[in-house]
Amino acid sequence: DQFGIQKSLQILGIKDKNPGSSTGTKWIGTNEAFFASISPADGKEIAQVQMGSKESYEAIISQSQKAFETWRNVPAPQRGEIVREIGNALREVKADLGKLVSYEMGKSYQEGLGEVQEMIDICDFAVGLSRQLYGLTMHSERPGHRMYEQWHALGIVGIISAFNFPVAVWSWNAALAWVCGDVCLWKPSEKAPLSGIACQNIAAKVFEKHGMPEGICSLIVGDYKVGELISHDKRVPLVSATGSTRMGKLVAEAVGARLGRSLLELGGNNAIIITGSADLDMAIRGALFGAVGTAGQRCTSTRRLIIHSSVYDEVKSRLADAYSKLVIGNPLDEKNHVGPVIDEDAVNMYLAALKKVETEGGKAVVEGGVMKGEGYESGCYVKPAIYEAENHFEIVQHETFAPILYLIKYEELEEAIALQNGVPQGLSSAIMTLNMREAEAFLSVAGSDCGIANVNIGTSGAEIGGAFGGEKETGGGRESGSDAWKAYMRRQTNTINYSANLPLAQGIKFDI
Ligand code: NAD
Repeated sequence: DQFGIQKSLQILGIKDKNPGSSTGTKWIGTNEAFFASISPADGKEIAQVQMGSKESYEAIISQSQKAFETWRNVPAPQRGEIVREIGNALREVKADLGKLVSYEMGKSYQEGLGEVQEMIDICDFAVGLSRQLYGLTMHSERPGHRMYEQWHALGIVGIISAFNFPVAVWSWNAALAWVCGDVCLWKPSEKAPLSGIACQNIAAKVFEKHGMPEGICSLIVGDYKVGELISHDKRVPLVSATGSTRMGKLVAEAVGARLGRSLLELGGNNAIIITGSADLDMAIRGALFGAVGTAGQRCTSTRRLIIHSSVYDEVKSRLADAYSKLVIGNPLDEKNHVGPVIDEDAVNMYLAALKKVETEGGKAVVEGGVMKGEGYESGCYVKPAIYEAENHFEIVQHETFAPILYLIKYEELEEAIALQNGVPQGLSSAIMTLNMREAEAFLSVAGSDCGIANVNIGTSGAEIGGAFGGEKETGGGRESGSDAWKAYMRRQTNTINYSANLPLAQGIKFDI
C-alpha cells in the first residue's frame, strides 16, 4: 500500500462491504447483490458496495419528503451555516478524499485534490448565496397595490452523476440546493460509488450534529435502473443529470413526460482555435492539458484543434514533441502525467475510435495503443493519440471519451468559427489569439455557440463562480455560479392590494 490508500479509506469510513442506500447517517441494507469497485490504476478491488433497490428507494423518498418539511423552514442563512461546516469537513479530509477519487476513478492525484477543492469552493459560494436569494420588486399598474417576487424551495432534488467527476458534480448541485431549502437524493455513478459513500459520510455527520432530520442528504447506489426510478418519479420535482447525451435524452424524456424539471449537463466536443497571432507557448500548454488531462475524460476535454495554416506545421510538430515526453502510469504517482481510462469498455471505445478515424481517412501524427507490461496490469492505460482529420468525419462529430486529439486546418477566422460550431455539442470553446478583433469576433453573437467561450485559456476546466453548462446536445443546463441557483427554486409572484378598491388588471370593467 505504497500510497496509503487503506488509511484514507479508514478515515473516510469505507468498509470492505458497504450498504449503498442511506438517508444520512442511517444506512439501509437491501436484498440486492454487492458489487466490487475496481481501481483502474492497478486493477484491484477497492471495496464492495450494495446496489439500492426499489424498497430502499421508497424508504429514502418518504424520509426525504418529511425532512423537506423541516428543512425548508430553517432560515436560509442558517442552512448556509451548515453548508459552511460541510466545506470545513471537506477541508479536513481533502488529501484522503482526493486520493480516493484518484484511485477509484483514475485521474491524477493533483486533479483529485483539485476536485475536492472545487467542492470546498462551491460550499463557500453557497454560504454567501444563502443571504442573497434575491427576488425583484415591480411597480404595479394598479393604485394601492404592491407587487414582488420571491423564491421558494422546490422539494427533492435528484442528482444523477457521471464517473469522471465522481464528487464535485454532486457538490455543485447539493450545496446550492441545500441553501435554497431543498433536500437532495444522489445517485453517484456505479463506476465510482465509494467516492459517493465517502461524501455521504462527511455531509451526513454535519446535518446530524445540527440536529437535522435524516433525509436532507440521501444517497442511493445503482445503475441506470435506479436512475430511472428518479427520472420517472413525480415526487422529485427537479432531476439534475450529468453524463452522456444518450442518457440525457432518456432522462429528459422521462422527466418531460411528467412535466418535471430537468437540468442536463451532457457531452462536449470542445475545440481550441489557434490563430496565426496566438502565443504558441500558451496554445501548446493549453491544448496539451486539455487533451490528455484526466486521460481525455473531462466533459471539457479538448478534442479538436482548429489551427491557422500559417502556424499549423509548427503546432503539429511541437505537440508531437510534447506528447513524446508524456509519462503514462499510476495516477497516484506524481511523476506521471497521464493515468488510466475508467475501464475495459472505455479502452474498447478508444480503440474503436482509432480504427474509425483511420477508415475515414485520418492521418496519425502520434499513434495510439494500449500500454502493456509492468505497472499497466489493469489494462486501462492508453496512449494519447493525435490525428489530422476533417471536421465532418463521423468520428470527429462524436464525443469519444478518451485522449484522442484531432487537428484541423483553416484559412479564415469565419471558417474556423463555423468549424468550431459545426458539431452537435456545445459545451466549451476557446480561441488563442493576441488580436483583439479575432477575440471579440469569437465572443460575439456570431461567434462561438457554446456555453463556455474562453480567450487565451484552454477548454478544460472552469471556475465555480461562473454558470457552467452548454448548449445543443450538451443539454442547456447551468450549474454552479452566477444565478444558477434559480434552477433549484420555484418563483412566486405576489401582488398585495392595500387599497379599499378592487381594480382589475388591464383596466377591465366588471360591475353589477
Ligand atoms: P453515462 O451517461 O454512462 O452515466 C451517467 C449517469 O447516468 C450514471 O450515474 C448512470 O448510472 C446514469 N444513467 C445512465 N442511463 C440512465 C437512464 N436511462 N436513466 C437515468 N440514469 C441513467 O455517463 P458516464 O460515462 O458516467 O460519463 C461520461 C459522460 O458524462 C460524457 O459524455 C461527459 O461529457 C459527460 N459529462 C458531462 C458533464 C457536464 O457538466 N456537461 C460533466 C461530466 C461528465
